[in-house]
Amino acid sequence: MTKKVRLVLGDQLNHKHSWYGAVDDSVCYVLMEVRQETDYVRHHVQKVLAFFGAMRRFAAWLEREGHRVRYFRLDDVDNAQSIPENLRQVLDTEQAEVFGYQLPDEFRLDEQLFSFGESLSQGVEVADTEHFMCSRDAVGSFFGQKSWLMERFYREMRRKHGILMEGDRPVGGEWNYDAENRAAYDGAAPIPAPLDFGHDLSELAAMLDKAGVETMGGADPKRLNWPLCREEGLQQLDWFVQEALPHFGTYQDALERGEWAMFHSRLSFALNVKLLDPLEVVQAVEAAWEKAPERYALNHVEGFIRQIIGWREYMRGVYWAEMPAFAERNFFGYSRKLPGWYWTGKTKMACLSDCITQSLDRAYAHHIQRLMVTGNFALLAGIDPAEVDAWYLGIYIDAIEWVELPNTRGMSQYADGGLVGSKPYVSSANYINKMGNYCKQCAYSHRLKVGEGACPFNLLYWHFYDRHREQLEGNPRIGMVYRTWDRMGEEKQAQIRREAEAYLERIDDL
Ligand code: FAD
Ligand code: SF4
Repeated sequence: MTKKVRLVLGDQLNHKHSWYGAVDDSVCYVLMEVRQETDYVRHHVQKVLAFFGAMRRFAAWLEREGHRVRYFRLDDVDNAQSIPENLRQVLDTEQAEVFGYQLPDEFRLDEQLFSFGESLSQGVEVADTEHFMCSRDAVGSFFGQKSWLMERFYREMRRKHGILMEGDRPVGGEWNYDAENRAAYDGAAPIPAPLDFGHDLSELAAMLDKAGVETMGGADPKRLNWPLCREEGLQQLDWFVQEALPHFGTYQDALERGEWAMFHSRLSFALNVKLLDPLEVVQAVEAAWEKAPERYALNHVEGFIRQIIGWREYMRGVYWAEMPAFAERNFFGYSRKLPGWYWTGKTKMACLSDCITQSLDRAYAHHIQRLMVTGNFALLAGIDPAEVDAWYLGIYIDAIEWVELPNTRGMSQYADGGLVGSKPYVSSANYINKMGNYCKQCAYSHRLKVGEGACPFNLLYWHFYDRHREQLEGNPRIGMVYRTWDRMGEEKQAQIRREAEAYLERIDDL
């Protein structure tokens, strides 16, 4: 029998992978907790705990299934804290003839494992992760030179996989029900209490402390609330379908003070570490709708499915088509540092304070909080996209570069010059006030466009468009903005510029 060592990365916890179909004693599976991974960015403490907690459970599952496993704990004395060095050690002790790994989803690991493979005298086998619904390069080939409109790709995915289709027509007659998915929360449906897994990871937390791993955010290590094994991933999925899906679409964009997850699924961690696969999630949602269409209106079901087979697969395709250059894109040439309060939540702006504090406490914010509050402000203020990336990559439980980077640099910061989004996602206080209740309890006034107490979003919004007129005016989706700006007259424009710049000068005190 050919002796093999197979690496399983921390985000490759796919129980259904064909590797595990048969028990083979000549194969040793390797999982490792390493400083290389805890230290490449400053992560939220819950993120490190959840990754290691899930990896330990996955290794235990493999052993229960009869597979041989070498698991490096972070504090093992023979842990060299680097993936290649630990692998060399296991390849030697196992006297392996073949090294196997699954295609990593991150560019840096892809490069590292490719070079490692090249350096070996052993044979190398590379397997697919068997997780995504299309290949790394499918999105790139689909669009080619045409504009990368997500909606086109999404429709193709619906047709290809026969999801929500009646023959070659979308069920209900429409591909997209987004127009029904823009309500503020009105209390008509109670927000369901989140499922609480309450994991006690205090031993792991003590190990991180002792090793001096630098993290951010808070956690009660005795009550970690994320699904850490496949059964819990499935429970989270079931909870979502039963409790939150019936209202998901309507309140998808709603912002509500103190409500950290609204009707969102919180499935991103389980999906991104591959405890769940996207197709089973989509099928569970589609099956619930087929069984009880009166309970699950199409706008909820379609709205959710679009996030998974549309946005998630699309973002992965953008990442692989555009890396490594994408990580350097800075269309507006921004260089400002992120204000210190992104790390504490201590700002007088109620919307930012609430979203940042929640992110620090829970390693989670829902999409509109990420896009239209924290991301919106960073773009309006001209923050260096590298700073914004590091913050998003560190703070969220689900942040892995392949999905974080195109969302942050692309969708949120427009640093790609409009590949992902056809126009920058920016707004004044108007949008934030329309979608939620933050403005009701804020030190600034959403109504004031200028003057003492005017909301910083109002001033920075116009300042942003003014300073980028040359780059943005030609965009047909933006023309209206400049017509409104021109109608304001020079005196008002000068006041906006002056007051916006004063805000930017004391950005740390806003
Ligand atoms: P739900 O609202 O319940 O959506 C269901 C699922 O759809 C999510 O679990 C996710 O898998 C998928 N999805 C939804 N929107 C997107 C999207 N834009 N791109 C990819 N998948 C999507 N998502 C991550 O998984 N990791 C990240 O690091 C990440 N960084 C982001 C950074 C910014 C600036 C923005 C604007 C968005 C980011 N997203 C990221 C996308 C999205 O915000 C999260 O997937 C979502 O908030 C996770 O919560 P949920 O599982 O409750 O999502
Ligand atoms: Fe945010 Fe401005 Fe509203 Fe305050 S007034 S909550 S800063 S949008």
